[in-house]
Amino acid sequence: MSSYSEDDAFEAAVPLSRRAMAARPAPYLDDLNPAQRQAVEALEGPVLMLAGAGTGKTKALTARIVHLLTTGSARPNEVLAVTFTNKAAREMKNRVGRMLGETVEGMPWLGTFHAICVKLLRRHAELVGLKSNFTILDTDDQIRLLKQLISASNIDDKRWPARMLSGIIDQWKNRAWTPEKVPAAEASAYNNRGTELYDQYQRRLRELNAVDFGDLLLHMVTIFQTHPDVLDQYQRWFRYILVDEYQDTNVAQYLWLRLLAGGHKNICCVGDDDQSIYGWRGAEVGNILRFEKDFPGATVVRLEQNYRSTAHILAAAGGVIRGNEGRLGKELWTEAQDGEKVRLIGHWDGEEEARWIGEEIEAMQRGTRGGRPVSLDEMAILVRASHQMRAFEDRFLTIGLPYRVIGGPRFYERLEIRDAMAYFRLVVSPSDDLAFERIVNTPKRGLGDKAQQKIQMCAREHGTSLLDGARILLQDKGLTGKGAARLAAFVEQIDRWHPIATAQAAAPQPMDEDALIMDDSAPARPAVSHMELAEVMLDESGYTAMWQADKTPEAPGRLENLKELIKALESFDNLQGFLEHVSLIMDNESEQEGAKVSIMTLHAAKGLEFPAVFLPGWEDGLFPSQRSMDESGLKGLEEERRLAYVGITRAEELCTISFAGNRRVFGQWQSALPSRFIDELPEDHVDVLTPPGLYGGGYGAAAAPQSNLHDRAAEANVYNSPGWRRMQARAGQRPIAQPRESRAPVIDLDAVSAYTVGDRVFHQKFGYGAIAAIEGDKLSVDFEKAGVKKVVAKFIMGADDVPF
Ligand code: ATP
Ligand code: MG
Repeated sequence: MSSYSEDDAFEAAVPLSRRAMAARPAPYLDDLNPAQRQAVEALEGPVLMLAGAGTGKTKALTARIVHLLTTGSARPNEVLAVTFTNKAAREMKNRVGRMLGETVEGMPWLGTFHAICVKLLRRHAELVGLKSNFTILDTDDQIRLLKQLISASNIDDKRWPARMLSGIIDQWKNRAWTPEKVPAAEASAYNNRGTELYDQYQRRLRELNAVDFGDLLLHMVTIFQTHPDVLDQYQRWFRYILVDEYQDTNVAQYLWLRLLAGGHKNICCVGDDDQSIYGWRGAEVGNILRFEKDFPGATVVRLEQNYRSTAHILAAAGGVIRGNEGRLGKELWTEAQDGEKVRLIGHWDGEEEARWIGEEIEAMQRGTRGGRPVSLDEMAILVRASHQMRAFEDRFLTIGLPYRVIGGPRFYERLEIRDAMAYFRLVVSPSDDLAFERIVNTPKRGLGDKAQQKIQMCAREHGTSLLDGARILLQDKGLTGKGAARLAAFVEQIDRWHPIATAQAAAPQPMDEDALIMDDSAPARPAVSHMELAEVMLDESGYTAMWQADKTPEAPGRLENLKELIKALESFDNLQGFLEHVSLIMDNESEQEGAKVSIMTLHAAKGLEFPAVFLPGWEDGLFPSQRSMDESGLKGLEEERRLAYVGITRAEELCTISFAGNRRVFGQWQSALPSRFIDELPEDHVDVLTPPGLYGGGYGAAAAPQSNLHDRAAEANVYNSPGWRRMQARAGQRPIAQPRESRAPVIDLDAVSAYTVGDRVFHQKFGYGAIAAIEGDKLSVDFEKAGVKKVVAKFIMGADDVPF
């Protein structure tokens, strides 16, 4: 449970001296172009600034606040300014302070919708049946509460999970529907019981004197709609309303704003329809397109000059977003120099991509790649999916490159990663009590607090670990019923996995595909690799299934993170080695001072800017995300394209897009096609780089200029080499995304069993050799350096096909 402490915003207000202000020059106006100035100076009445990325919307909005204060039109506490994140609110507050040349006292109503609504709701809680000291439930509490209601209603929560209901309720709240207002068309939701349970849930929250996040807005909208006197009070109090990133407001936020602005209509909204990226959370881009209808006579300001990016970057972004239909279609221009073209590079795999970006960053920092030295603070890596961060974090930790993750925990701090690692820890060292505690009832095994206390007591009594304590407790029949059976199963699993993990730690050096090498001379090794073991543990314990059954928006991301975790194991010999690596990482993590590279998702990058931006993972299926296309079709694809636009337009001077031909998912190679957005980049503004190590290496050794970008990038990339295709064919694997019809198939089936005795071949670990014998799908190869080994055919390629 969390609670907010807030200053009393109304009392704290300190009026600024009009005279002192009037005597100052207004440098904040001199910095603006005429259109921005118009938006700043048109203080009365509605104003809409609808303009593309980097055109100075946020800057103008900030200047408008300063203008309101300096001209004495409003006191700091009479300005309601809404930003999308707390970070943006802090930045805006600081900027206002800098522009005014003094720290701003007050400005209590500059913040996110949620932060502002908490303050308001505390003042009027009794109007919706709450006390002013209500608590705000986090997601876990919310789910627990829903579960109670579900089980009391005799609903099978396996078929109808609580998280599904919580997702439905959130969406309803985003639309400002109280239980009475949920339309009849939604009656079938959650097996026809959705509305009824929503109603019960709201009642229960009231009894508990609690709200969830969605309630903060919902209750305020209800209060304003049902208490005209209260609304009137705030309409007069908030004399000016300003909203940044208006394209991402949902219906509840929109209604709330419209109610508050309903009197004086002094509302200034800024946004960009091309940057609407929260449709999946209920944002309605229609809100911004409807502004002129909602507020007739609005001053509409269009900004077209971009001040952020070089001409090449701007043109590349413009080329991509042109693929969307039904947009307003703004053209941006810049006075900035052409600068460097957007760079495009394809890599063999995700690890190689991370390594290359790490080297680029170091070279840029030192200034050895040409151009000025760039500080780490000036560089950012923007990913589509948070699981992509792992490869970068690992790489940067290895080379000691300081980084920060913005907008979320670092990879190894994530809930699901910590859970999974607790399984690994317990299996490696069964006396790790902390690990035991963490997972004994995760997923739920019916071992609540009471059962866990019994285990604790038993362990203490016998002076053993918790795992042994559990064993003794079971023997002594100290625990009975369903919980006992499931605890027994859990203990049995750990006992079964422990010797395998130990054997792996004792065995010599396995490498990736070693599990499949039939080398008679090698000492005995466990039949399964540590990666397989990890996968088995997460599956058989029910941990993976727990997230598969979870219907919250975060669940798919958590499953992807788990896959990524398995991938991370690949570089280690066994679980123990991996755990040591992670504990070192966590040890290193103490906040270093100084400049750091930022890593964040594209969603978290909205509104920000960096001189150098890396955009990795541009592969169909990852970006655009397959899930988003499956769930929302063309609408989903267009939202993905807007994300691409947001990504490119974060860059001021240098933008580097990359993709990997292969990613390893659960120990299996999967090949991927470059993102369709790569095809949409205008060629004249892009340089295709050749990855180091290929064709003698060296950047800029671009391929044939006539072919299109996609082909050029693909040609420059190993994934398209005949050898790779043949390997794919032998592995018989499906690419992450289906190739589009217009493209040549990547898989060349004829290549299977293409070998004869005497062929010269290449193996990633053993190097070159000649085939001595063929037995089924296994080849006996006489390697030049390693001698005779039996290898599986799919892990070798013809010596002529080796691309480097
Ligand atoms: P986004 O759509 O990405 O949120 P934005 O429209 O809000 O972008 P800002 O972040 O306000 O754009 O401005 C982009 C950059 O351009 C900032 O570095 C800002 O200082 C600069 N800038 C804006 N207006 C001007 C101007 N008139 N003269 C010089 N620089 C400007
Ligand atoms: Mg902005």
